[in-house]
Order: sequence, then structure tokens, then C-alpha cells
Amino acid sequence: MKDTHKLRGLRQRLVKYLQSRGIDDSRILDAFMDIPRHYFISKDFAEWAYRDEAFLIAAGQTISHPYTVAFQTDLLQIKSSDKILEIGTGSGYQATVIASMGAKLYTIERQAELYHTTNKLLIKLGYDRIRTLFGDGYQGAPRFAPFDKIIVTCGASFIPKALPYQLKIGGRMVIPVGEGEDKMMTVITRESETEFSFEKKGIFKFVPFLEGINEQKQSVISKPVIRVKL
Ligand code: SAH
Repeated sequence: MKDTHKLRGLRQRLVKYLQSRGIDDSRILDAFMDIPRHYFISKDFAEWAYRDEAFLIAAGQTISHPYTVAFQTDLLQIKSSDKILEIGTGSGYQATVIASMGAKLYTIERQAELYHTTNKLLIKLGYDRIRTLFGDGYQGAPRFAPFDKIIVTCGASFIPKALPYQLKIGGRMVIPVGEGEDKMMTVITRESETEFSFEKKGIFKFVPFLEGINEQKQSVISKPVIRVKL
């Protein structure tokens, strides 16, 4: 894995672009400057890594667009004392951005292939404080709940009931949700034991939030899910 002056220059340009789109938290901008995104995708695409684009990773999944990563991170309003759950480890890039802000992160992936390769990569890069879990994000991570924040990095067609109930009172969850391909970035705040408030933050596209785990290298069609109304 190598970083170069040229790639650092491209990162600097990406940071300027994120600033021009309204990302002004210096901790997020520093994370984008410090973390080489090209480590998380095929090395053949290193020079493309600093465009605002998604790329295919293993198991037919994608690393999210840099702007999407920055925007979701911004919505989380991270504090260094936070305990955070990420659903959809994928390449691990979003996880490192969150961890670099000092928060304690748990991250779940349903694709065995991605879980294994990303877990190894995170250790190799020195992110051994990130706790990677193999499992179904529809269940959240009850063993480690409650969380200050939850971030879902795949597109949901509804909000799985278990998730908002794994937030602390006052905790925030960021989830892209909607019936079709376009997902509404939604911030849910747990106001009390039983009350939640919702804010809509714009339309994004994501790979789907699928139920169940995939232990194979080849993706299988996911089981139908039962709808649970909050
Ligand atoms: N945060 C990732 C985004 C990867 S794409 C990154 O920075 O690269 C979203 C990921 O969510 C995919 O890897 C997909 O396999 C995973 N995913 C989809 N449904 C899931 C579920 N039920 N539980 C856990 N992960 C899930």
C-alpha cells in the first residue's frame, strides 16, 4: 500500500470539493485528508479514488460516494465519547472516518467475504479499536447497545424496529429510507423511551439493506422481510 504526493494532492482537491458542498466540520475534512481512500478499493483505481464516485468492492457491493460519507458523518454530530454502531461495514472506509474522530465504533456486515477482508484491512491499517461484527444489521447489535449514534450505510425500504430502540435517550440515527431506488436520508432522534422525531435531509442512492447473512462468496437472494411499523 503506498501513498504518494500526487494522491495526497488529489485528496486535497476532494476536501475542497466537500467544503464547497457545505461540509465545514474540520474533523471530517481532516479525516478525508488523512485517510487514503485508495487503500479501500482496487489498487488499479487509485487515481480515481478521489473523485466523488462510488466503486465496486467485493460481493457486488460499493464503497459510498465521498460526499455521502461526509454528509452522513456530519449528520451524526459525533462526539469523541460516543459509542456508535455502523450497519454495512463494506470497504471499511466510513468506519475509519468515524473512528478517526475518536468515537468507539462497532460495525456490522452481512457478507462474509467483505467481513473477513475488511476486518484484516482495518487491523493492517492500525484501526484495531474498531469492533467488526458478522451478522444481520436488521437486528442491530443488542449485546453492545445502547448506542449514542447509529449509522446505516445501505438503503432501507423501512426502518427496522430493533434499531431506534438500541439508541440511548437523546441518541441519533442516520438511515437512508424509502420504497424505491431513491432513499430519503433520515435523522431519527430518540426523544424519550417511546418517542422519536424524524428529519428529512435529501435523496441519495445506496446498495440495498438486505435481511439475513450471506456466508457464501456468491450473493444469494435475500428472504422476504416482515414490515414492522414504528
Ligand atoms: N460503509 C460502507 C458502505 C458499503 S455499501 C463503506 O464505507 O464502504 C453497504 C454495505 O451494507 C454492503 O457491504 C452490504 O453488504 C451491507 N449490508 C446490506 N444489508 C446489511 C445487513 N442486513 N446487515 C449488515 N450489512 C448489510
